[in-house]
Amino acid sequence: MPSEKTFNQMKQQNILCCRCQLRKTCRQVIPGKGPSDAKVIFIGEAPGKKEDLLGEPFIGASGKLLDKLLLSVHLKRSDIFITNIVKCRPPENRDPSPEEIGMCSSWLEKEISLIQPELLITLGRYALKNFIPESSISLFHGKITSISLGKLENLPLLPLYHPAAALYNGSLKDTLFEDCKKITSILSHKD
Ligand code: SF4
Repeated sequence: MPSEKTFNQMKQQNILCCRCQLRKTCRQVIPGKGPSDAKVIFIGEAPGKKEDLLGEPFIGASGKLLDKLLLSVHLKRSDIFITNIVKCRPPENRDPSPEEIGMCSSWLEKEISLIQPELLITLGRYALKNFIPESSISLFHGKITSISLGKLENLPLLPLYHPAAALYNGSLKDTLFEDCKKITSILSHKD
């Protein structure tokens, strides 16, 4: 677990970032949120309009569904770290470009390497492809795989559909809750 000082320094540096063009159109940089000793990191795509306005990741309708998902596996927001692959809202919520994702990736890597979680959870296809470029969310969702990232080897990764996709397409909601149950089995094996 990093010292609070190191963790907060990283956040402060992230907030000042203007490395890519997304910073020109967003209101603010939104680093991940959660405790530095979180066992689980959830990773989405990018902040949306409400997140940009209020400065927090995963609020609004998607965030409410995420809270229900967490509750279903006996977790709370305060137990997890939640972040995005890009920390600034793309204009009109467009998809972030590969260049923007590439320029922002070091912030996500810093978050993961400092926290050293027991499990990474990607939400949606962009977050999944960030770690496994050749993957497809329809084939990989709910299947635990493992990745290596810097000094972290064999880190379990559980791909889930994005809550926004389940809100848009109600048939994915049951799948999302079913896939989420895997979290409990992974964490209980680590205890
Ligand atoms: S999206 Fe990432 S790289 Fe681009 S300005 Fe924001 S924090 Fe920096």
